[in-house]
Amino acid sequence: MQFEHIPHPSPLSDAEREAILANPGFGTNFTDHMVTIEWTDEAGWHDARVEPRAPIQLDPAAAVLHYAQEIFEGLKAYRHGDGSIALFRPDQNARRLNASADRLAMPHVPEDLFIEAIRQLIAVDGAWVPSAEGSSLYLRPFMIATEAFLGVRPAKRYKFMVIAGPAGNYFKSGAPAVSLWISDYTRAAPGGTGAAKCGGNYAASLVPTREAFSRGHDQVLFLDAVEHKWVEELGGMNVFFAFDDGRVITPPLTGTILPGITRDSLIQLLREEGLEVSEEAYSIDQWRADAESGKLVESFACGTAAVVTPIGKVAGHDGEFTIGSGGPGQLTSKVRERLVAIQRGTTADTHGWVLTV
Ligand code: PMP
Repeated sequence: MQFEHIPHPSPLSDAEREAILANPGFGTNFTDHMVTIEWTDEAGWHDARVEPRAPIQLDPAAAVLHYAQEIFEGLKAYRHGDGSIALFRPDQNARRLNASADRLAMPHVPEDLFIEAIRQLIAVDGAWVPSAEGSSLYLRPFMIATEAFLGVRPAKRYKFMVIAGPAGNYFKSGAPAVSLWISDYTRAAPGGTGAAKCGGNYAASLVPTREAFSRGHDQVLFLDAVEHKWVEELGGMNVFFAFDDGRVITPPLTGTILPGITRDSLIQLLREEGLEVSEEAYSIDQWRADAESGKLVESFACGTAAVVTPIGKVAGHDGEFTIGSGGPGQLTSKVRERLVAIQRGTTADTHGWVLTV
């Protein structure tokens, strides 16, 4: 598909951009351009553009504003030592977007179009990819239902967009290990939308997340909706548990948690380290008991934004428990380094995970 290019009439100056890149934060600064592609029932995907980043016009009856027919992705572009820019497993993000599209009754974005849209944005906004360690360009592809219609049925018009912004460390505190609050709320029920990356899931997580923050924790921990017993995931990360006998477990993809791309990558990397990794249900009571007996030596959370982050403490109404020393453990640090080295191109990409754009 041909992309029409409309350059920004007044992009930020080099000095303004460099000032932002020196301290990028997360999610508050954006590049100069955005990609938009339209979809209709009759024409499919058309009108692809790279244009100045600006507010978009939507009819107030647009379905996304009423019934939340919206899905999104999150991935990063990394600056390698030779100056080139690389994506990490973008094909997996394209696939997950389409799995989310299936659940929300939305059209697929062909994998090559998804990747081309990102390429086109980086081609004009490449100067926004930071090179400092721990920094990257966060890409946010998303799709919304734009049809003006208030009946409850799948819309007949959609807009796919890609926006981007430089990102530093995800956790404000930059804390070496995070503290979790066990939520009374649940994130996703069997048969619901938990495995889809749709805005509605995140809307529902805001009250529990606010509660976790107000109690002084970094993230919310969700248990399953049926028994309120099994550990599922955090507000925006999957979780792993490592034991003193070399076993590692992570909750299985039963449809109520997001199939994280970092999760999938770590399962592979940990197996290559010779560890026995199983996708297995793990209860909050067992977690506490194993942490207290010392059988559980490390726990960590993982995701595109948070990379690999050690979990130091877990708290709920029944009190709290500490994992290991409460700080980053050896395995957590090692697996984080391995993943980051692949993403940043400082080690060979033997998995074919890195795509230079
Ligand atoms: N769970 C949730 C709820 C998330 O929002 C994310 C972030 N996308 C993850 C897990 C981790 O997924 P990934 O590794 O693909 O970023």
